[in-house]
Amino acid sequence: MEYFNYRNGELFAEELSIAEISKTVGTPFYCYSQSAIEEAYQQLTTAIQGLDLSVFYAIKASSNPAIIKVLADQGAGADIVSGGELRLALAAGLPANKIVFAGVGKTRDEMAFALAQGILQFNVESPQEIEALNSVAEELGLVAPIALRINPDVDAKTDARITTGKADNKFGIDAKDALTIAKQSSELKGIRIDGLAVHIGSQLLDLEPYREAYKRLASLATNFMNEGFKLHHLDLGGGVGIAYDLGQAPDLNAYASIVKETVHPLGLPLMMEPGRSLVGQAAIMVSEVIYTKDATTKSFAIIDAAMNDLIRPALYQAKHAIKPVHESVSASHNRSYDFVGPVCESTDTFAEDFDFSELNADDLVAFYSAGAYGAVMASEYNGRPLVPEVLVKGDSFSVIRQRPSYEDMLRLYSLASWQI
Ligand SMILES: *Cc1c(COP(=O)(O)O)cnc(C)c1O
Repeated sequence: MEYFNYRNGELFAEELSIAEISKTVGTPFYCYSQSAIEEAYQQLTTAIQGLDLSVFYAIKASSNPAIIKVLADQGAGADIVSGGELRLALAAGLPANKIVFAGVGKTRDEMAFALAQGILQFNVESPQEIEALNSVAEELGLVAPIALRINPDVDAKTDARITTGKADNKFGIDAKDALTIAKQSSELKGIRIDGLAVHIGSQLLDLEPYREAYKRLASLATNFMNEGFKLHHLDLGGGVGIAYDLGQAPDLNAYASIVKETVHPLGLPLMMEPGRSLVGQAAIMVSEVIYTKDATTKSFAIIDAAMNDLIRPALYQAKHAIKPVHESVSASHNRSYDFVGPVCESTDTFAEDFDFSELNADDLVAFYSAGAYGAVMASEYNGRPLVPEVLVKGDSFSVIRQRPSYEDMLRLYSLASWQI
C-alpha cells in the first residue's frame, strides 16, 4: 500500500495532510508513516518465513527511538554500530539480548558498556579487536559472545561508496584467515565464538552478489564446524536496496530463495540486519520554496532544506523523487528546476533540471524515499538547527525529534577560557 497519497490534490501521510502538519511543525521536517514501516517489516518476515531468520534492524538507517520502537514492537531486534546507538536502542525499550554490535572501530569504553548490558553478540572485524574485547571482558569477569565478520571478497555491484565486502574494503576478516584467527582466539577466556557474519554493502538492486557471498559463508561455516567449532548462528548482513525512482523494489521472495539455497541447508539459526529496506520508503522530507530564480540557462527552486538536512544527493549523487504537496490544477510538468538549498556550496543541490509544475515562494515540496540515511545524517552546517522528525499513525502525528531552538544550538558552545 502507498502511505503518501494525494487526496483532492493534497499530499497526505496516512490520514493526515502534510500541509497541516507543516503548519504546526514548520519546515523543513521529516515525516515517517508508522504503517509503512510496519508493512515493510511484515513483507520481509512473510518472505523469509520458515528460514529461521531473525531480523535485527540496522538502526543507523534511522536511529530515532520512536522508529526503533515501531520495529521492536513488530518483533525486530537491533543492529548497532556505536555506544550512542546502543543507548538509543535501549531508550526505545529493546532488551540488550536482542542487540548485535557491528562496526570496525569499537572502542574499549563502548565494549565495556555493551558487555555490562549483556548484548547478544559482537560482530568483530580484526584480531586486534578480538584481543581488545577479550581483555575488556576479562576485566569485567564476563564472556563476550562474538561472530567473526568475514570479508567474502564479493562485488556487491552497488555504489562504490557503500560497497563493503570486497577484499580492499576496510571491513571484515579475510575469509582465508578466518579459521586461523578463530583457532588462535579459542584460547581466550573473555570471548566465545558463536557465529560468522557477512555484510557486503548497501542498496543492492541485483541480488546475485548475495548468492555468491552466502555460498562462501556457508562453505566457511562448514569448515568451522568440521574443525569442531560450535556455531550458534550465521549473520547475513544488511537488507536489499529500495527503488529511489519509486519503481519496483528487489523481489524479497527471490532474496529468500537465495538464503534457502545457500545457507539455510546448514540448519543453523540465521540473522539479518536490514536498515534501508525497512524505513527508506517510509518517510518524506518536506521543504518550503523560499525563492524561485530564473537564471540565463536554468531555473532554480531555492528551498529551505539543504544538504545538512538530507546529504544523500551531495554525498552519493542520490536522486530522490520530488513531488508537490499541493498538486497544481493542471498538474502538467511544464517547468524544469534545479532544486537547491541555501547552503553556500554548489553541492547543495538536490536535483538538476527536474521536470515540475510551476513553483512559487511558499509552495511545499516533498522528497521521497527519505526514511533511511536521511535525518540521521543531518548536521548543523551553516548554523542550521537539526531538522525535526514527525511520526504519523492513522490520523495522529507526533513530533519524535524536536527542532532545537537557537538557544539549544548555542548551549554546547563556549569561548575558550582565555577569551572571556
Ligand atoms: C549499514 C549496515 C547494515 C544495514 O544496511 P542496509 O543496506 O541499510 O540494510 C547492516 N549491517 C551492517 C554491518 C552495516 O554496516
